[in-house]
Amino acid sequence: MKKCRCGKPAVFFRIYEGRYLCEKCFCRSIEKKAKKNIRQHKLISPGDTIGIAVSGGKDSMVTLYIMSKIIKPRRDMEITAITIDEGIKGYRDVCIKRVKDFCKKLGVEHKVFSFKEEFGKTLDEKIKEIKSNRYDIDTACTFCGVGRRYVLNKKSRELGLTKICLGHNLDDEVQSVLMNYMRGDLQRASRMGPEPIKEDEKFIPRIKPLRIIPENETTLFAMLKKIPFYNKHCPYRTGLRLEIRDFINKMEDKHPGIKLTVLETFDKMHPLIKEFVKQQENKVFYCEKCGEPSSKKICKTCVLWR
Ligand code: SF4
Ligand SMILES: [Zn+2]
Ligand SMILES: [Zn+2]
Repeated sequence: MKKCRCGKPAVFFRIYEGRYLCEKCFCRSIEKKAKKNIRQHKLISPGDTIGIAVSGGKDSMVTLYIMSKIIKPRRDMEITAITIDEGIKGYRDVCIKRVKDFCKKLGVEHKVFSFKEEFGKTLDEKIKEIKSNRYDIDTACTFCGVGRRYVLNKKSRELGLTKICLGHNLDDEVQSVLMNYMRGDLQRASRMGPEPIKEDEKFIPRIKPLRIIPENETTLFAMLKKIPFYNKHCPYRTGLRLEIRDFINKMEDKHPGIKLTVLETFDKMHPLIKEFVKQQENKVFYCEKCGEPSSKKICKTCVLWR
């Protein structure tokens, strides 16, 4: 049996570091990576009240676990867990229950905000309505993603939070980098760097402590720490992101470390992308219908949901 440097039996081989790790050293290395990322990019600072966006999946639950471990002993920062209930029957309701129980165990306050109270209908109802009206729809994820980002930002601002912490892992980030290239969406790419992302005073800056940790490692961490995440996939999950995910995983198998290289290269180019987008004078407007920040006169949420 292979052994860790400390002499204990290994549970994981981190191929891109050429290193076998035992359970304790593996878990410690994940927390160390997250902390290093937080320190290096100044993701949190004294006085912060941080909203952790927790869906109930492994990455957001791991983020909640690590952030509560870092922040709870401190007197100069606070955290709250926030879940957006899109209204996906048989899926999100189960996730919310897990988040509630886990927050109780960690002693973290938990708040739930729903599409139903914000937009008057659940995602399930919206999808049914769109199908019956034969509206030209890409996927449910467009409605879901736009709505969730909107509600999360608006509610976090109303709660007086200073940062929104997202559970995106390395795989999510690399998928987004490639998707933005494929769609030619430089504006979205400009909002994706390693530092806290603040687009406008009405936007709460978003931070991603796990963005350099691969998905298989966040999964193993969650399992070893017995974090009660919900491991089923959303019934609406389809589309370009899944195809890119398969492609990147195949590339990573053949060329270990390629995911990290893609992200690090993007991070080096990010200041230039930001500067280029700024020069295009993409002004931030406030939506004429709801008053939230938007790149157009009517925001995408109002177009899709209202
Ligand atoms: S897979 Fe799509 S519809 Fe399901 S929760 Fe994610 S973004 Fe929403
Ligand atoms: Zn060890
Ligand atoms: Zn609007």
